[in-house]
Amino acid sequence: MNPRNNHRVILFPLPFQGHINPMLQLGRILYARGFSITILHTNFNALDPSSHPHFAFRSIADGLDQSEASLSDIPSIVSLLNARCVGPFEECMREMVSSPGGDAVPIACLISDPFFSFPCGVAERLKVRALTLRTGGATSLYVFTICPVLKEKGYIPVQSSRLQEAVKEFPPLLVGDIPVLDSKDPGMIFQLLENLIKAIKNSSGVILNTFEELEHPNLALLRDDLSVPVFPIGPFDKCCVTSSSSSLLAEDRSCISWLDEQPPKSVIYVSFGSLTATSEAEILEIALGLAYSEQPFLWVVRPGSVCDPEWLEKLPSRFLEALEGKGKIVKWAPQKEVLAHPAVGAFWTHNGWNSTLESISEGVPMLCMPRFAEQGVNARYVSDVWRVGVHLNGGLERENIDRAIKRLLVEREGEEMREGALALKEKASVCVKQDGSSYQALDALVSHILS
Ligand code: UDP
Repeated sequence: MNPRNNHRVILFPLPFQGHINPMLQLGRILYARGFSITILHTNFNALDPSSHPHFAFRSIADGLDQSEASLSDIPSIVSLLNARCVGPFEECMREMVSSPGGDAVPIACLISDPFFSFPCGVAERLKVRALTLRTGGATSLYVFTICPVLKEKGYIPVQSSRLQEAVKEFPPLLVGDIPVLDSKDPGMIFQLLENLIKAIKNSSGVILNTFEELEHPNLALLRDDLSVPVFPIGPFDKCCVTSSSSSLLAEDRSCISWLDEQPPKSVIYVSFGSLTATSEAEILEIALGLAYSEQPFLWVVRPGSVCDPEWLEKLPSRFLEALEGKGKIVKWAPQKEVLAHPAVGAFWTHNGWNSTLESISEGVPMLCMPRFAEQGVNARYVSDVWRVGVHLNGGLERENIDRAIKRLLVEREGEEMREGALALKEKASVCVKQDGSSYQALDALVSHILS
C-alpha cells in the first residue's frame, strides 16, 4: 500500500448496485495509489460504512418517500434524485471545501456518476476539479453519443417490426439493440442519455471500467467525440484485490460449497443482475429450459424480482426434480467468486456491463439475454465481435434455452467460445500489470487529478 498522498477524492455513485460496485472499486484503486477517499451516498440504497473502514462516508438527503423509493421505474427514480439531491449535495460539498474536518486532507477532485447531471456544475462553482465515472462500456457510451443521429435517421423511436434490421451506421448493431428500446417513456430515456453525455462533456475527464484491448476502435471514436480525456483503467476487479463487498443484499455463500461438489466447467450460472424483473411465464420457461438441458445450474432469483412470492412451489415437478438432483437457487450470490469458480462453464446473463466484464475477466462464455438500456449493445459485442457468447435466439422458450445451454456447455462451439473468453481473460490480466494499457491509463489519471 502506498503512503497517503495528502489528497482527497470525493466519490458520488448513483445508488444502484451496478453503479455502486464499480465506484467503490475505483475508490479502492485510488486509495491504493495514496488518495484519501470520501463517499457521498444518498439515503436511498444507502451504503454500509462498516464494510469499508478505510473510507469516510457522508450521506445526502434525497427526500424520496417510501412510495417513490419503491418505484420499479429506474429512469423516474434517476430523474427524482437529480431534482432532489442538488441542494443537499451542494451544501455538503460547500461544507467539505470550507471546513474539511480534523484530518484536513484537501480535496483534489470529485468523481461522480454522469447520470447525476448537477455535480460538475456545483464543483465548478466551488472550484473543485470534477471527473465522471461511466460505469458502462465504451461501445455503449459511443452508441449513446450517436443516438441523436440514429433518431434523425429514423431508427428511434424503435419499431417492433424492425428489430432484426441492421443499423448501417454502426455494424454489427441491430435496431433491436438500440438502448432506448423497451421503456415506458422513450422520451425520458432519450433525455437522460443526452444529460449523461452533457455531464461527461462538462467534466474534466471520464473514467471507464474497460480496457483498450477490448474496446479499442470505439474508445478512439469516443475520444474524438467527447473532447475530454478518457481513462480506460479496467477491469476494476483485476486492479484491486479485496474481500470487502459492496452488495446491497446479503450474499448466500452456500453456493460456493455447492459449486465445489460439481464437475469442472459443468455449471450454468444464471443471474439477471440487480434490477431486472421476471414474469411468472418467463420463470416457467427458464425453469423448464434448465431442466431440459440436464446440466447443473446455479440460479439467482432476487427477492422481489418475481411478483408471486410462491413462484417456486408452483413450478412443475420436472423442474423441482432437476433442482433437487443438480440445481441450486440463491437470492444473491458472491458473483465474482462464482464466475472464478472452476465448476462454472457458462453464464446466462442480462449483459449488464459489470456482469459482462466480470465474465470476460474470468474467461466464462455467455448466454446473452439483454433486457434494457445498453445491455443489447453489450450482448451484440459479446456474440458478434468478441465471439464469447451466444444470443438466446428464438426467444425465451424452454426448447431454445435447452439448445443454447447445450451449445455452450456440451458442444465444440462452446469450447471455442471458452478459448476465446480465456484469451480475453489473459489480456484483461496483462493490461492492469505494470506498463499494461490500463496501468498506464491509471498513471495518467493520477497525474491528471494531481495536476
Ligand atoms: N451481483 C452480485 N450477486 C448476484 C448478482 C449480481 O454480486 O447475485 C453483482 C454483479 O457482480 C455486478 C452487479 O451485481 O457487479 C450487477 O451489475 P450489472 O451491471 O451486471 O447489472 P445491473 O444490476 O446494473 O443491471
